[in-house]
Amino acid sequence: MRDDSCIFCKIANGDIPSKEIYEDEDFKVILDLGPATKGHALILPKNHYRSLYELPDELASKVMLLAKKMSVQMTEKLECDGFNLVQNNGEAAGQTVFHFHLHLIPRYEEDGQVLGWKALQPTSEELSEVRRLLVE
Ligand code: AMP
Ligand code: ZN
Repeated sequence: MRDDSCIFCKIANGDIPSKEIYEDEDFKVILDLGPATKGHALILPKNHYRSLYELPDELASKVMLLAKKMSVQMTEKLECDGFNLVQNNGEAAGQTVFHFHLHLIPRYEEDGQVLGWKALQPTSEELSEVRRLLVE
């Protein structure tokens, strides 16, 4: 369940050192080397899954419980003002390391970071067409 060429497999399994802040049977949580803000961390499964699409259901539910726990603890300890969870899948979505990871990003008033998108202005018909694609 590991990929020998994957840096996050090596980090999650202790073959490469990292600034680890939490570990359990399934996951390691490390500080991001290129943080968006103070405390930016990554939840890494110990096994290799390329993205959310491959992540088993059991780990998908565990990762959200862990994200909640980490967010609460980190908010208390860092005294941040808000928190983003970010999870990129595929190059088009900004994924650069192809081992599933969930970003934990503490946010501070005036941190100057912008995580967002430019809002489109679809017509009601365009939204209806998207809805038809998704539910019919
Ligand atoms: P993504 O763009 O969602 O694939 O995010 C990859 C993240 O991994 C980026 O925020 C990088 O700064 C971070 N990163 C890459 N290599 C390492 C590493 N060796 N240790 C810690 N964080 C890393
Ligand atoms: Zn991996």
